[in-house]
Amino acid sequence: MIYAANFKTNHTRQSTREYLGKLQMKLLLDKNPNDEIYIFPPLTALDEYNSSDFTVGTQNAYPFESGAFTGEVGLEQLREFNIDTILIGHSERRDIIGESQEQVAKKFEFFKEQGFKIIYCIGESLEVREKGIEIVMEHLISQFEGIDTTYENFMVAYEPIWAIGTGRTASVEEITETHNRLKKVVDRPLLYGGSVKGANIAEISAIENVDGVLVGGASLKSETFLELVLH
Ligand code: PEP
Repeated sequence: MIYAANFKTNHTRQSTREYLGKLQMKLLLDKNPNDEIYIFPPLTALDEYNSSDFTVGTQNAYPFESGAFTGEVGLEQLREFNIDTILIGHSERRDIIGESQEQVAKKFEFFKEQGFKIIYCIGESLEVREKGIEIVMEHLISQFEGIDTTYENFMVAYEPIWAIGTGRTASVEEITETHNRLKKVVDRPLLYGGSVKGANIAEISAIENVDGVLVGGASLKSETFLELVLH
């Protein structure tokens, strides 16, 4: 299984260090060697965290080496900390920050060229979900516009927007049907995201085409994230 923790705009440099220290201690003893673990702290908390038990990635970056892009972080800054993993297309960046599919695709292309591991997020609103699975799939497939789905170093995170941070998880049937259909479109590891927590990790991880989970709220404490990883 793949377990990815998205801190969003939570945690500081110091609390991230403490978190990763606790994570490392526990993983060293109890990690399943087949599991992959990714942590996405805020940009200010990036540092040289070398561990064979987890990978630290960035939640975002600007698709340039360096230059005049006030307030942005480019490849040069990520390289300082050996960061080569990135989240792209998260619904909060699409919907709150206003990233268009064109911008998302440009970012994907740039970091693909750099050989980054990419977790590429897609998802639908409740309004779309209520229109039925065919419309949901149309919407999800439109989020692959401009994305090279043959890139071998990326995975997809399916995150229904109505299930993110709401406590409302998609049902096993909804996840199963959506993941089965998505697997036919992109044959890459497929994560589910949306209110994953200790109480539902067993049933979600048991679904055939769920290769991992992307976790927000339940990843903020090392204890609750470890509960998922070591379930
Ligand atoms: C997310 O934002 O990627 C996410 C899945 O959040 P949560 O687990 O809090 O729903």
